[in-house]
Amino acid sequence: MTYYVIDRSHAWPRWSGELTTSARRWSLPGLRDCPGCGETWAGLLAYPNVDLAPHTELAAQLQATGGPEDWATYSHLRDQVRAVCPPGTCLMPGTEFGPLLGAASGTWGPATLVMPPWGVLLREDALAAVQARGLRGITPVRTELVGGEQLVELALPLAGALHPDSIPGPRRQCAVCEREDWTLPEDYWLDESSLPAADAFRVADAPTLVIVTEAFRRAVGALGHSDIDYRRIDALPPRREAHHLH
Ligand SMILES: [Zn+2]
Repeated sequence: MTYYVIDRSHAWPRWSGELTTSARRWSLPGLRDCPGCGETWAGLLAYPNVDLAPHTELAAQLQATGGPEDWATYSHLRDQVRAVCPPGTCLMPGTEFGPLLGAASGTWGPATLVMPPWGVLLREDALAAVQARGLRGITPVRTELVGGEQLVELALPLAGALHPDSIPGPRRQCAVCEREDWTLPEDYWLDESSLPAADAFRVADAPTLVIVTEAFRRAVGALGHSDIDYRRIDALPPRREAHHLH
């Protein structure tokens, strides 16, 4: 199967669609002065399909948070969220929940990678094309954007891993907040054995990478140009041949 990392194309934008403001209904706070690594940080993950409205008290707390909080506050909220989320949900500081709110303007292509908040938005005809072709792992969430076109956001599964041979040296992880101190190497590829049965997903150990398959590219591409760059990424078995090793 052929996989691609997608990115925004800034070369010759053909579409004017953009988010003028964006937010989500609920958010874990960022973490201030981690007692393990000392960092103040927040990640970029979002779960548009996690609805915390039924959990009234928790939802109110997650709306009230503003800036980063100390470890006790963050971890207390995280544990409460974990109890009501599907197993395996990654709850790093700053993780957001619920549909995209805000305002959109302009004319949108079939598919758009927006950042922030680092999500994939589809026009309704693109969603219909993706669904008609039976693509896997597609969970559309209706956005609540004012203005512009009707857009859905894909709740991308967080799954799969980079190939261990493409990661230089061990990845250091904070024992308290689980923040990983590493940078993406220039050349990297996927561990084939880890990949989910999905045509669009985020890489679990590098969530800023959005991966799509050839089937996704074709389905969306049939509706015309999107302002997206597709860069092919190899998916290789766990053990590589010697000539690939540096
Ligand atoms: Zn830490």
